[in-house]
Amino acid sequence: NMIKVHNFSAGPAILPAEVLQQASEACINFDNLNLSILEISHRSKNCIAMVDEAKALVKELLGLKEGYQILFLGGGASMQFAMVPYNLLRTEGTAGYVNTGAWATKALKEANKIGKTLVVASSEDKNFNYIPKGYEIPTNLDYLHITSNNTIFGTQMKNFPKTSVPLVSDMSSDIFSRKINGNDFSIIYAGAQKNMGPAGVTMVAIREADLGKTGRKMLSMLDYQVHIKAESMYNTPPVFPIYVSMLTMRWLKKNGGIEAMEKINQKKADVLYAEIDRNRMFKGTTEVEDRSNMNVTFVMNKPELEAEFDKLSKTANLSGLKGHRDVGGYRASIYNALPLESVNALIEVMQEFEKKFA
Ligand code: PMP
Repeated sequence: NMIKVHNFSAGPAILPAEVLQQASEACINFDNLNLSILEISHRSKNCIAMVDEAKALVKELLGLKEGYQILFLGGGASMQFAMVPYNLLRTEGTAGYVNTGAWATKALKEANKIGKTLVVASSEDKNFNYIPKGYEIPTNLDYLHITSNNTIFGTQMKNFPKTSVPLVSDMSSDIFSRKINGNDFSIIYAGAQKNMGPAGVTMVAIREADLGKTGRKMLSMLDYQVHIKAESMYNTPPVFPIYVSMLTMRWLKKNGGIEAMEKINQKKADVLYAEIDRNRMFKGTTEVEDRSNMNVTFVMNKPELEAEFDKLSKTANLSGLKGHRDVGGYRASIYNALPLESVNALIEVMQEFEKKFA
C-alpha cells in the first residue's frame, strides 16, 4: 500500500484512495443499475436516496439537532459570500465580519454590495498572520460572519466568538476536521474540495428559523428557502460531487468519525510544526497559538535555496507544497485524507535539506 505521490494540495485536495475507487466504479455502474451515476435522473429513487444519505451524514458529523436543513449547491463557497447576506441581512440591518484573510475579505466585499456591514475585528495589519481576540460584538447585528480556517494564511480559530447574534462560518477548509458544536451556528458552509469531496458542490447547513426576515424580494436561485422547500433539488444538483462527498463522509465515519480525525490531524500538525520550529532552514509564518491544523504555512530562512528544496521534494514525490503568492514559501495542506505517512515523508525531506545546506 505504498503511496505514489504525497498530495499536499490546498484544494482541490487529496481524497481517500478507496473513495476514488468507489467513485470510478459508480461512473460505470451505480447501485447495480447498470447505469452510470452520471447518466441517471437526479429525481430517480437511487439518486434521491444517495442525496438523503449525504444530508444525514452531514447532520450526524456536525451533531446538528432538529431545525437544521442541509443544502448541496453549486457556485462554490464564493456563491455563499453573496447568498449569506442576501438571505440574512435585513435592508435596515447591519452584518458583522471578522476579517481574517483573503476569503473573509471577499465575503465582506459581497455583503457590502447587499447592505450595511461592520468589521468587528481584523488581522489585516499583520498580513493576517493571527486570529483577532477579545473584540466587542454589537448585539444588534443581523449575523456575525467568521472564517474558521484561513486556507491561504495558515491560521485557524481555536475558539469561536461567543455571541447572541446568529453566527455564520465559512468552514471550507476545516469542515469535519475537529469536533465543533454545529448547533452554535446559524449557517455553516463549505466548498467541498478540501475536506469533504471534489469541486463542484458546496454544503450549506442552515438553521431554518433564522431565514425569511430580510424584507427583500428574493431571486429563486439565491433563496435558501426555495432550495430547502425543494429538498436541494430546485434545479439539477451537482450529483456526482455530492456522491463523492457522501462516499468521503462514509469513509470518515468508518474510520472513527470526527473524534478519530481530530486526533490524527492534531498529531500530523504537531509533528510538522515541531519540525518547522526545530529545523534551521525554515520558520513558520503565523502566531503559534493560531496555527492551522489543516494548512501549515512556512518559509525558508534562505529563500535563494528554494529551488534546491523543490528538487528534493520532487524526488521524494511530494506534490502541491508551493505557498500561496500572498504568503510565499510553502504550504502543506494536511486534510483528513492525508495520512501521517505523507507528513513524515515531508519531514524527512526537510531534514535531508537541512543536512545538505545548513
Ligand atoms: N473560503 C475558503 C476558506 C477557501 O479556502 C476557499 C478556497 N477554495 C473559498 C472560500 C472559495 O471557494 P470556492 O472556490 O469554492 O468558491
